[in-house]
Amino acid sequence: MKTCIVSGDLSSGSGAEQNKPVNLCDDCVADDGQKSGRLVIRYDKEYNPDYGETCAWCGRTAEEEAQAWAE
Ligand SMILES: [Zn+2]
Repeated sequence: MKTCIVSGDLSSGSGAEQNKPVNLCDDCVADDGQKSGRLVIRYDKEYNPDYGETCAWCGRTAEEEAQAWAE
C-alpha cells in the first residue's frame, strides 16, 4: 500500500479531487503503467492511513494486501 497523488481522467470526482493523496495497493501502483496513460501516478510515498484504509481503485484493505503477500 502506498499513498499516491494521481492525475488523469478520473470518471468520478472533480479536478480538485484528482490532486488529493489517495492510497493505492501495490498491485494498482504496478498496474498503472499498463493502463495506457489513463492515470498517472505523480508520486508515491509511504502508506498513510489518514487518506483512507482501502485502495482507492480496487478497494483492497492494507490488511487484505498483507495477507495476499503472505500466501
Ligand atoms: Zn488496488
